[in-house]
Order: sequence, then structure tokens, then C-alpha cells
Amino acid sequence: MNNLATLLVESAWADRDRVAVRQDDLALTYAQLNDSSARVAALLHAKGVRPGDRVALVMRNATEFPVTYYGILRAGGVVVPMNPLLKAREIAFALRDSGSRIVLACPLFADEVAAAAAEVGAECLVTDPTAFGSLLQATDPIPQVVDRAENDTAVILYTSGTTGTPKGAELTHRNLMTNAATAAETLLHVGPDDVLFGGLPLFHAFGQTCALNTAVAAGATLTLLPRFESARALEIMHRDKVTVFLGVPTMYTALLRAGIPDGYELSRLNLAVSGGASLPVEVLHGFEREFGVTVLEGYGLSETSPVAAFNPPDRPRKAGSIGLPIRGVELKLIADDGTTVGPGEVGEIAIRGENVMKGYCNRPDATAEAIRDGWFHSGDLARVDEDGYYFIVDRKKDLIIRGGYNVYPREIEEVLYEHPAVAEAAVIGVPHEIHGEEVAAVVTLRDGAQTTAGQIRDYVKQRVAAYKYPRIVTFTDGLPKGATGKILKREIAVEQQASKA
Ligand code: AMP
Repeated sequence: MNNLATLLVESAWADRDRVAVRQDDLALTYAQLNDSSARVAALLHAKGVRPGDRVALVMRNATEFPVTYYGILRAGGVVVPMNPLLKAREIAFALRDSGSRIVLACPLFADEVAAAAAEVGAECLVTDPTAFGSLLQATDPIPQVVDRAENDTAVILYTSGTTGTPKGAELTHRNLMTNAATAAETLLHVGPDDVLFGGLPLFHAFGQTCALNTAVAAGATLTLLPRFESARALEIMHRDKVTVFLGVPTMYTALLRAGIPDGYELSRLNLAVSGGASLPVEVLHGFEREFGVTVLEGYGLSETSPVAAFNPPDRPRKAGSIGLPIRGVELKLIADDGTTVGPGEVGEIAIRGENVMKGYCNRPDATAEAIRDGWFHSGDLARVDEDGYYFIVDRKKDLIIRGGYNVYPREIEEVLYEHPAVAEAAVIGVPHEIHGEEVAAVVTLRDGAQTTAGQIRDYVKQRVAAYKYPRIVTFTDGLPKGATGKILKREIAVEQQASKA
């Protein structure tokens, strides 16, 4: 049985009464989660969903997420999770591209999702606790998990990868099952008594595999936080006796700033995991001191399910390193000419193994560009030391990571170019104390055009998710360009820094 949903069935079979997922006062045992997801599967079957059909999911971190996620999988469907902060036009793009005819949305985001669904002719089902809850109660659960082949797609994650336009990374049942099993067994070493912190967004690869699927594979408890906020995070860690904290570097910075409140008891916390962006070494050491726990950093991408490298718990941890390739995965560094580089030299990380996606949905060219000779090209630059530990040096691509969320400059540039006063635009990330990076736009205006930085900012703000619009907008007479006319973003970044200094 190759369906990712069997992780849940097996854990429910092993211990029905253990809490699988908690969101404040609402707790679902493994038996309840399994039963509810079987009802979702039946409902989807009744709506004509057949094995391989795509079903989109627009949800915050709440108990409905795992219920519907495993429900879609159980029915043999393919889950297309999306960031609930996306605007209608962004959701519509992913619905159309993935061919999703049904989208499940939590009430909070129903308006935006319904608008997108109407645009592409999809059906929007709102998981309102009362209406959706009684619909599920009136539906008989399907007893069986629909069998899938190990190379069948289980989840499509939208990411811009190494180029600008969003693409759906197709992850198979095997990709996701092996990545979760490896995380549970060899990286996090978690079992039924563990409580994992669920503050990472579940629509994203890191939270989905390392928090949700890993917790379910281990038969552990996942305690959810819909929106990360340090005071709430600390409260949950204390209240639910969290044993494993998982977060992106900005969460570490925020928790470190907040400190442990008096009277809080975090003695069961025995591991903290960081990923998604580089964790500053100072933050790592500070967190270890304050929280009395080891922080292990890992690395991966949506395309690699996501974990590719990790600091193994049974070897000395190297601060500032993403560690070693995980079980079943190989890494190498390649130079621009395609040759492999040795220890100490910088090269692009290439990844091969059971975690590498099948390809990008409907994009054979982009797939062929990303996966060459069986190696996935990450776009990240790194060096490796004599012990085989990898250190990220820079990003080859232009991805900006703001507070753990990916912002793809090209997407924002496209919107800026739609503004009638804008002649040219470049979007870059500038260092930011809290968010890690902040989105900055540098713009040249058309001759005679008149506008303000605030107007440009608001223009973009109305068209993209709130975490993406440029908080900083500056004007320039001309953007620096290379010989081919390509805008030189690194030079812009240096100029921005110089003008701030
Ligand atoms: P995503 O597809 O959203 O998971 O983003 C993947 C990108 O996040 C990678 O290509 C890296 O640029 C970045 N990333 C992930 N983990 C790390 C890490 N530990 N250090 C530095 N960058 C990271």
C-alpha cells in the first residue's frame, strides 16, 4: 500500500486514543482524525473525485487541515495546498494550472477562494465547522484507503523554483512517505510520546513533512498554532509540554527576543529544528543557551519533499552548517561548467535520491532544466568541509525569504510593470532584523510620470498577498545593467546598503 494516507491509518491502528492533533481546546485522537478523513474521502467520491484528481486546499493551521489533507489522499486524490494569504488571482492561477475542480477552504479565506473558484469554474467547499461538520457526520466513511502506485503524485506544491513563475512541484507518495519516515526515525527520533510544535505553515513543504507527516508517522501529537506569534508559541510549548520545536530562523529570533516567561516549564523540550533559510550562528547559540536545547539545522526545498540535508543527532553538530545528506539522498556541488567541486570550493547543490520530485506539473522544459542526469539542481550555492558537512554560501536564484515566506522578485516586478508610471523595476531582498529579509523595490519612472513611493507600494499591496509587497520603494534614474541588458541586482543591493549607511 503506497498511499501516504496509510501513515494515519497505521497510527490509528496502533493507538486509537492518543491525541493526533490539537488546536487549543480542540483535540482529535488518531481514531477521530482517521474517521473524519475517511468521511472527507467519501464526500469527495460522491462529488466525483477519482484517483489522480487534484483537489486544492486553502487552509490555516487548524485541525481541518489534516482532516481534509488525509481525506483527499485517502480518496486517491492529489492535494494541492496553497498559502491562505494568496489573493484570488494567485489562487486562480494554481487552480487552473493544477486542474483542480474542487477547492476546500476554511471560512476565514472563503471569499478570496470563492472568487478564484468562480473565475476558473471550480467548486469551492467551505469547511465551516457547523455546515461542513454536519455534512461529514451525514456521510458514511469509506473503509479503505485507495491504493496508489509509489510513483503516483500525492501532493503538488507551488513554488517558483529557480525561475520566476510559480510551478507545481509534483511529489509522489514515495517521496513524501520516505522523507517523513527518515525524519521520524533518523533525524528527529520521535515516537508516540512526543509532542511536536505545529507553528510552521502546513501548506509549505517544511511544516507538511517535518511537523505533520512526521508526527503522524511516529504516532505522536502535533499541536497547532494558526499564526506564529512568540507569546502564543511559548504558551503552547508550556501548556502542551512540547518536546520538539520546529521553526524557520525568524521564529528563533522572535522567541529569543521574548525569552521564557516566569513560571513557564519547558523541561520536556529536547530538540529544536531549523530550516527554510540560514540560521545565524549567534541566534543558534543564544537559543541553545536560553532554552537549554540543541538546535539542529537542516536544508531542503519544496522539490525535495523537502529534507535533503540535516545535522545528524548522533554526530557533533556544526553551527552554521546544514549538515550531511540524509538517508537515501546524495548531494554534490557542481561548478558552472558542470564539473564536481571538491572540499572548500563553492558550487551549486545538486540532489539525487528518493526525495526528489517527479517533475513540475505541465512543465516538461522546466523539469528537464531542473533535473539533469538524474540530479536536481537546487540553485543554492554551498561549500563542503573535509567531514562532508555542507555550508550554504548564497542563493543563486533571486528568492527573497521574508519571515519564512518566499517572495519571488520577478512576480512582484511583473505587477510593478503593470503600474502606468513605472518604466523599470527591480525587486531585491535587503537585510532586516526581524524578518531576515525585507522586500525592496527600486523603480525608474516613465518620462513626466508623477507618483509617490506610497502609491506604488499600495498598488502592489492590493494585488499580491500581504507578505509580498515591497515595504521599501525607492526611485532611481537608471538601474545598473550588465552587457546583455540584464538588471544587476547585486549592484542594486550594494547601492541600497550604501545609501542606508
Ligand atoms: P522552499 O521551496 O520554499 O522550501 O525554499 C527552498 C529554499 O529555501 C532553498 O532553495 C534555499 O534557498 C532555502 N533554504 C532552505 N533551507 C535553508 C537553510 N538551512 N539555509 C539556507 N537556505 C535554506
